[in-house]
Amino acid sequence: MATVPKFRIDVDINDILTSATQQLPVPPAPKGLSLPEPVFPQFPERLADPGPEVAPEKRKWGLPYIYRASRGWLMPYVRSRVLSGEFHPITAYLFIEYKCNLDCWYCWAFNNKVKGMTEDTARRTIDWLHDRGCRVLALMGGEPLLRPQFAHKVVHYAAEKGFWIYIGTNARLLRPEVADRLADAGASVFNVAVDAWDVKPGLPKALLPIEPYLERLMRKQFVYGYMVFLNINICRNNTEDVRQLTEYAHAHHIATDYHINETPMLEQDDHFKHLHQNPTYIYPEDWRAVDELIDWLQRLFDPCRPLSRRLVFDIMVRAGRIIDYFA
Ligand code: SF4
Repeated sequence: MATVPKFRIDVDINDILTSATQQLPVPPAPKGLSLPEPVFPQFPERLADPGPEVAPEKRKWGLPYIYRASRGWLMPYVRSRVLSGEFHPITAYLFIEYKCNLDCWYCWAFNNKVKGMTEDTARRTIDWLHDRGCRVLALMGGEPLLRPQFAHKVVHYAAEKGFWIYIGTNARLLRPEVADRLADAGASVFNVAVDAWDVKPGLPKALLPIEPYLERLMRKQFVYGYMVFLNINICRNNTEDVRQLTEYAHAHHIATDYHINETPMLEQDDHFKHLHQNPTYIYPEDWRAVDELIDWLQRLFDPCRPLSRRLVFDIMVRAGRIIDYFA
């Protein structure tokens, strides 16, 4: 098996980005702001509604949901095209945690020594984004639901300001009472990250441990009006799991998106423990199996999709890009 390089970008750029001698910008001084206490439930009738036993064949989107999505995506985009100036952010990623409750061996994007975001920072960031016309906010981590009350406050505050809110989570902490609070506050999408059917070496993000939470989340999407999709990372040791998860998503009429697993772009410090002996890394001898999997995904989802779009899908997946692929 080939050895894994410590980083994959140009040496000079890696050195600039990882060098401790560079001058970091001074963070703004805290102003002691806090986030308002959310009202819950805002919609008691939704809280009481268990949702349909069986998912409808076709999802109907009412006017309030179309308005919410347009306000988040379409209007800021149009504004960005007609207003002068160059800085008109459409989407923003708010890393409210750097800690994580899991340890996926390919992941260098968490560090359990870093404290979570303060209410002061969250509030000022949301206000700043709002003033610049941004209306899509993705809660990221680490695991953004490590402090569920904090996540609830952030979602509530941002939704009140008209943001369309996306939550990326491994769902281990997505208990019904947490999911209800986030949905009631105005979450628009739950992006549930899973890589395996059951926990396996290097891949703890699995479906079986979260299945009861996920099934309830999927039922309640028809009550609250959010979307659910699965986010799957294609690794050396999960090609069969990817098929199984995809079929599960397909059967439940939810979307999937895919990544191709990659070794670290930048050299990591000692918070990343799994550079060597990592069963998730894809080596040249695995390329054929990964290619076959991507071909299978293409055929499964959309045999009738025009060739040009299928090619774009193919190129992007093979380039390791995120693909939103709605079932
Ligand atoms: S759950 Fe997400 S943030 Fe946590 S270790 Fe896995 S990939 Fe990284």
